[in-house]
Amino acid sequence: MSPIEVVYDNPVTCDTRVAWASVPEELTQPRRQAVLAELRELLKARDAVLVAHYYVHPDLQDLAEATGGLVADSLEMARFGKNHPAHTLVVAGVRFMGETAKILSPEKTVLMPRLDAECSLDLGCPEADFAAFCAAHPEREVVVYSNTSAAVKARADWVVTSGCAVAVVRHLHQQGKKILWAPDRHLGDYVARETGADLLSWQGSCIVHDEFKVQELKDLKASLPHALVLVHPESPREIIALADRVGSTRGILEAAATPGVNTFIVATDNGMFHKLRQTYPEKHFIEAPTAGSGATCRSCAHCPWMSMNGLENLRTVLLQGGPEIVIDPVLIPRARLPIDRMLEFTRASAIPAAAGLVPHIGAA
Ligand code: SF4
Repeated sequence: MSPIEVVYDNPVTCDTRVAWASVPEELTQPRRQAVLAELRELLKARDAVLVAHYYVHPDLQDLAEATGGLVADSLEMARFGKNHPAHTLVVAGVRFMGETAKILSPEKTVLMPRLDAECSLDLGCPEADFAAFCAAHPEREVVVYSNTSAAVKARADWVVTSGCAVAVVRHLHQQGKKILWAPDRHLGDYVARETGADLLSWQGSCIVHDEFKVQELKDLKASLPHALVLVHPESPREIIALADRVGSTRGILEAAATPGVNTFIVATDNGMFHKLRQTYPEKHFIEAPTAGSGATCRSCAHCPWMSMNGLENLRTVLLQGGPEIVIDPVLIPRARLPIDRMLEFTRASAIPAAAGLVPHIGAA
């Protein structure tokens, strides 16, 4: 069979207008306080725990922590949910996160404020096309990023997060294996350069990390010579080349602890700034530049699908008991296998699967 050329580049399905139009309005202070009080009661009444991603609205992050839940990245969210005694997990994030939670906790009810909160990486890697890609390269070990659907995970040998991708691929490379990687081309490119692995990548990308601008970041860096540049590896190669540290969301949080450094330029979704500022109130965090309001279309460091989560739609889902994440039961054990493989690998290697800085290829 001849190799499949991957021509995908954020298709029409990644149109973000519907998501932006669905972003809830900010509540008035009295309404916000009333809904927050009601949500605390509803979570208790439903025996539910709220897990929120670093990129969602600060109110949701604070509510999760104030009610015994968690703010984290997708895998930690799922692991926390699995180990928590609550019968219902409420996931404030995007759909693949709810699916991962359901895969690890199939016996629990997994609710989300919006099931149509998507991700450009997930949308850009449809299962049927991905299956054809895999079938064309049967000699390769299939490694997929966590930002994929349950159906794509079910086709994979390994699921990885940005915190453990380099370690897993290096391990496979040392065993002489060639890699088929999906869906993020930038993370795949970074992992290939770090490990030297023969890695054939799907060509998806995150619409948020794709927005960072190279020249503007160079200029900002030059104007702030004492600042450290922290970059998520979903960013393009030219942005990563300007980084002082490259890391997952948790890696970025850890890097901000660097002693003697008080200013950081951060290239990831700006939802992350809430946790950074809470954790290091004495330090300064500056967004890496995007085209901003000068762009011909919306350009910002914020995910429209993450922004669809709000207090009011969280209230609705708790009142109604839905919408609920449902996954074909046949898929669950198949999708769980590559996740368990990663968890076992990271446990045995003492690598926090969802955490940590990945090695850096060299700051500019
Ligand atoms: S920030 Fe990017 S990777 Fe994260 S959910 Fe949004 S589109 Fe997907």
